Amino acid sequence: AKQQGRGIVCFFSAEMDRATQDRRELERDLRAALDSGEITLAYQPVLSASTGQITSVEALARWHHPVRGPIPPDLFISIAEEGGLIAQLGKRILRIACEEAMDWPEHIKVAVNISPMQVHAGDLFKVVRHILTITGLSPRRLQLEVTEGLFLRDIDHTFRELDQLRTLGIQILMDDFGVGYSSLSYFERFRFDKVKIDQSFVRQMLASQASSAIIQAVVGLGTKLGMGVVAEGVETAEQMAALVEAGCTHLQGYLFSKPLRSAEIKACLLANARF
Ligand code: C2E
Ligand code: CA
Ligand code: CA
Ligand code: CA
Repeated sequence: AKQQGRGIVCFFSAEMDRATQDRRELERDLRAALDSGEITLAYQPVLSASTGQITSVEALARWHHPVRGPIPPDLFISIAEEGGLIAQLGKRILRIACEEAMDWPEHIKVAVNISPMQVHAGDLFKVVRHILTITGLSPRRLQLEVTEGLFLRDIDHTFRELDQLRTLGIQILMDDFGVGYSSLSYFERFRFDKVKIDQSFVRQMLASQASSAIIQAVVGLGTKLGMGVVAEGVETAEQMAALVEAGCTHLQGYLFSKPLRSAEIKACLLANARF
């Protein structure tokens, strides 16, 4: 048994070395990819629940590795965070999103995901202001999506960063609400423009009374506090009907559209598509 135990340990550490090795390789390749145009953005429409019109589009990072093909964003974003590359990658993403949004109708906003480390770095205000200036995008058209992970550190400082960012005239959205370290007291200190209910609640709402009650509670809170409530991960007409009934103000999900390439979203927006 001892023999076997050691074998398992060896097996695990070999596996771990390989995983570490793999991440190191990806980190090296990501460093190179930052200058080579391998990082692109896909865009997923967000609709008004009352009119069915597209009101904004979420930018989602894509990395097509020359040998390995597409790498999931959750993976390469976390590699970028660990390897100290997130500031540079984040700037690149913001810049592409603002540039591409300049080609869309003016009433369409663009939402960009922001990693907690980008906020904690302390220069996000300057970065955003600079990118708005060089691209010419109106601040009214930019939304930043932040997650609860942001508030694990330096909470007062973090809220001051958000206050300052908002003086630019941009919107701040709370993403993936309800699954991380959610605290209702965040809303006491900061009024987000919108709250995005995590898609796990949407997925379970028709089967789980708890999920559906949580969605209703978030909608009630959002409505009282003047925050829009976005349901993401909407995949079926039944979910849509329940979410509209619950009072969600905006909807996003495969039911309406998968994330689209830059040229596709542009064509879709210029055709004034409605769902
Ligand atoms: P997220 O911000 O919560 O983005 C939503 C994810 O759900 C996206 O996955 C989207 O493609 C997927 N999705 C949208 N509708 C549906 C649906 O109806 N059903 C299902 N099953 N999934 C749906 P994606 O593109 O793989 O991104 C995963 C995560 O990676 C994002 O979650 C976000 O946390 C992170 N991420 C992506 N792009 C960026 C970025 O530019 N910067 C940062 N910091 N993080 C990013
Ligand atoms: Ca998001
Ligand atoms: Ca989300
Ligand atoms: Ca997520």
